[in-house]
Amino acid sequence: MFTDADLCAHREERNRMVEKQIVARNIRDPKVIAAMRKVPRHLFVAANQQQDAYLDHPVAIACDQTVSQPYMVAVMTEMLALTPTTRVLEIGTGSGYQTAILAEIAAQVYSVERHAPLADSAQQRLEALGYDNITVIIGDGTLGHPEAAPYNAVLITAGAPEIPDALQQQLASGGRLVAPVGGPDVQRLVTIVRKEDGAFHRCPGISCRFVPLIGEQGWEQHP
Ligand code: SAM
Repeated sequence: MFTDADLCAHREERNRMVEKQIVARNIRDPKVIAAMRKVPRHLFVAANQQQDAYLDHPVAIACDQTVSQPYMVAVMTEMLALTPTTRVLEIGTGSGYQTAILAEIAAQVYSVERHAPLADSAQQRLEALGYDNITVIIGDGTLGHPEAAPYNAVLITAGAPEIPDALQQQLASGGRLVAPVGGPDVQRLVTIVRKEDGAFHRCPGISCRFVPLIGEQGWEQHP
């Protein structure tokens, strides 16, 4: 699916993106910085949009969705405090770019996408790039993926009216969940940590803007 030339292209733009958009904005986790330096973001967007892949904004993908701004990907990944033993559940595979960043750092990533064409092309792309620690699932991610629960980290990459209870319940003791929570136009990145006694500690973060999380425990699909 990808040639050596595809893989080697845009290295300078990628390094510039990491320095100007990630390091200069105080992302400090070396594992996050290394992953963003490595993953070829241009291969997660359409061929005619590759020149935009390293710019400081989201890029449109199929099914009216977006691949998130690089800085937002870095912030959310850093907030999850991943280690090489972490098992992650991601809701909203989209292009698979964020999935690849997670898979560079964590042990295993389960990623749920409601649009089958996005899930299928992300899976093919991730396989072609050699990732063997990712499972892509087609379905309603607001219900999580109970078959492989519990997870040490849960990431929602679409804006939720509130954090779905099913996802909180699939979080392991000591685990972290990061999600954009708020109205349809603007949200706040929220971190939830599940304490040893089962209680949840909630911490609101920066404001952000994501496409909606649509599903049984998210927003309703408009006709
Ligand atoms: N992280 C992705 C990337 O790197 O390309 C971008 C994610 S995009 C901002 C949000 C994604 O969430 C979209 O692909 C959308 O279809 C998906 N989504 C929305 N509601 C969902 C749900 N209930 N279950 C699974 N995926 C959902």
